[in-house]
Amino acid sequence: MTIIDGKKISEDIQNEIAIEVETIAEQGGKIPHLAAILVGTDGASETYVGSKVKTCEKVGFRSTLVRLPDNTSEQELLAEIAKLNNNDDVDGYIIQLPLPKHINEHRILEAVDPKKDVDGFHPQNVGRMALNLPTYLPATPYGIMQLLERYNIETSGKHCVVIGRSNIVGSPMSILMARNSDQGNCTVTLTHSRTKNLKEYTLKADIVIVALGKPEFLTADMVKDGVVVIDVGITRMPSDKTKSGFKLFGDVKYDEVAAKASYITPVPGGVGPMTIASLLMNTLKASKKEIYS
Ligand code: NAP
Repeated sequence: MTIIDGKKISEDIQNEIAIEVETIAEQGGKIPHLAAILVGTDGASETYVGSKVKTCEKVGFRSTLVRLPDNTSEQELLAEIAKLNNNDDVDGYIIQLPLPKHINEHRILEAVDPKKDVDGFHPQNVGRMALNLPTYLPATPYGIMQLLERYNIETSGKHCVVIGRSNIVGSPMSILMARNSDQGNCTVTLTHSRTKNLKEYTLKADIVIVALGKPEFLTADMVKDGVVVIDVGITRMPSDKTKSGFKLFGDVKYDEVAAKASYITPVPGGVGPMTIASLLMNTLKASKKEIYS
């Protein structure tokens, strides 16, 4: 059994990007510039944005953080988005979610210039993904595809079961695994809370991608020997065994499933660290105008 080390792969990607940025700088090219909009002062969002900005600096990107107060109106946010759309110096930007309840998330995400949509959430980019056209892939699915590729895990002709159909993980994952491309070519079963007899599907799966947000949901009796397991779930649970007072749990009962798996991602240290690597890869693509020339 091989443990898929997402932390290492993410660091490898960051190092590769840092080298490329150094070369760009030496040749007098444009340094990639990522911007982020943060509305409000939610603690978790502050941490996520802070870590994205810090990693940008680590690889040599430029970064700009636009902070807006909690009571920012939808119109004011749209005005900030228009500014970033029109700022040629900004290659790509993200809007940290969730947004305050009085702001319509769909309207906001649709206002982002698809050329700068490095989160891959704009309907145009989602459509391009479905049509197998060059696009910005959403961070978590893109990160998982990188893990499969870098561990040389064969996907063609395999049966992949995805558990969960959210717009940010399960649905795009099912599209990517089914695409007619070097990576993909799986027969995909997309399952969700209304799926009956889930175990019947997972027992037949060569690859299971679990993204439902229920700690230790996937158990050993639900998978076959040699299965590849990608655990996307992250749930913070109180624990008296750790210094911090909490422990992170994935959606997979790790020890027992690992004993049957050929490859498995741990939590933490599996899929989680790949999100930032994906964002950096997308920003580099935006800066090099690889998707929309
Ligand atoms: P979500 O939006 O809450 O979606 C959960 C999905 O699971 C829904 O499609 C739901 O079905 C399905 N589901 C719920 N109970 C089920 C059951 N008993 N059997 C089968 N399917 C069931 O979640 P998400 O945003 O995709 O996140 C999922 C997990 O991944 C969370 O733990 C989240 O924290 C984590 N996550 C991790 C990363 C990372 O970087 N590692 C990134 C994003 C999310 P319905 O559609 O029918 O409701």
